[in-house]
Amino acid sequence: MTDRIYNFSAGPAVLPEPVLRKAQEAIWNIAGSGIGIMEHSHRGKVFDRIINEAEAACRSLAGIPDDYHVLFLQGGASLQFSMVPMNLLPADRTADFLLTGVWAKKAVKEAKVLGRTVHLAASSEATNFDRIPQPDEISYSSNPAYVHLTTNNTIYGTQWKTEPTVPAGAPLVADTSSDMYSRPIDVRKYGLIYAGAQKNLGPSGVVLVIVRKALVEAGPKTLPTMLQYRTFAADRSMYNTPPTFGIYIMGEVFKWIESQGGLAAMADRNAEKAALLYDYIDASDFFRGTVQPDSRSLMNVCFRAPTEELEGKFIAEATRRGLDGLKGHRSVGGMRASIYNACPRPAVEALVAFMKEFEQANRATAARS
Ligand SMILES: *Cc1c(COP(=O)(O)O)cnc(C)c1O
Repeated sequence: MTDRIYNFSAGPAVLPEPVLRKAQEAIWNIAGSGIGIMEHSHRGKVFDRIINEAEAACRSLAGIPDDYHVLFLQGGASLQFSMVPMNLLPADRTADFLLTGVWAKKAVKEAKVLGRTVHLAASSEATNFDRIPQPDEISYSSNPAYVHLTTNNTIYGTQWKTEPTVPAGAPLVADTSSDMYSRPIDVRKYGLIYAGAQKNLGPSGVVLVIVRKALVEAGPKTLPTMLQYRTFAADRSMYNTPPTFGIYIMGEVFKWIESQGGLAAMADRNAEKAALLYDYIDASDFFRGTVQPDSRSLMNVCFRAPTEELEGKFIAEATRRGLDGLKGHRSVGGMRASIYNACPRPAVEALVAFMKEFEQANRATAARS
């Protein structure tokens, strides 16, 4: 394909090409209906089948048990920073947070805006979020209503390798926006999982929420209707007009993951892609990784060059070569390659080849600085 370049954007991010091809047709005329996906009523038969298939594919990928709702909501992951404490955190309880980056901080901030009590059970802020806290650094409050974590820290490039141990009876709540379905996930370990679609699952404008039914039922009924999970649980995410196009694409992405061998196959492929980059960074004395090796993300690979001038040059030259979206977040600097599920291995190979070339060409400049 000559008209598409390699996209390493953190989000919105690359989508699987077969999904985009199919969507091109679906926008014009879906399922022989003579009407495009964006023009169908959400109350009609065509969309009914789309949302059913999306939910079924979502459930089958992770074996989601029947006592969990699968919801397709709006407001992004950021609205979940508020909806979670509104629905799951009574005013007389405490929620524990594992602070591993900017997104976790925003989740804490929104719980505090509501006047709720928050306990920081662990934080890696002192070292600019360069790692995931070790088990012995985590100290929970006596009886938390839930424990919140961010499974993958998109900005810093760190990722929890396994779930932390939590106090008995405390549901784990996870923001999985940037690594959802990049690897197997045991939903039973969680009370609630949320993921904005635009990193690994689809277009922006839809957020996936997987939540234990009992938690939804226990939530307060005094909240605005649109902010209660039960509103969407009762109407299969169709209390009001849902983000129909986003749900369609998400369903197609789920089916694509299935066709690729499912979550275990995704995990293998993602580990191989990430290893291409990390192995090269480790072998290089020009580039260096920014996070502790045992905390490295398989989704967002953050690295730096010897000087900021060289980093600017690297990003500019990479862009000219059709390697796009490599500029790191301003709070880390340097470069970030986001290599989600849909990022093909040849994209990573092309990036590593360019890095080698750039290192060769600029080694002398670096040595002088
Ligand atoms: C991108 C991102 C968010 C914010 O998502 P929105 O959909 O823009 O609200 C939250 N958490 C994580 C981990 C993210 O990567």
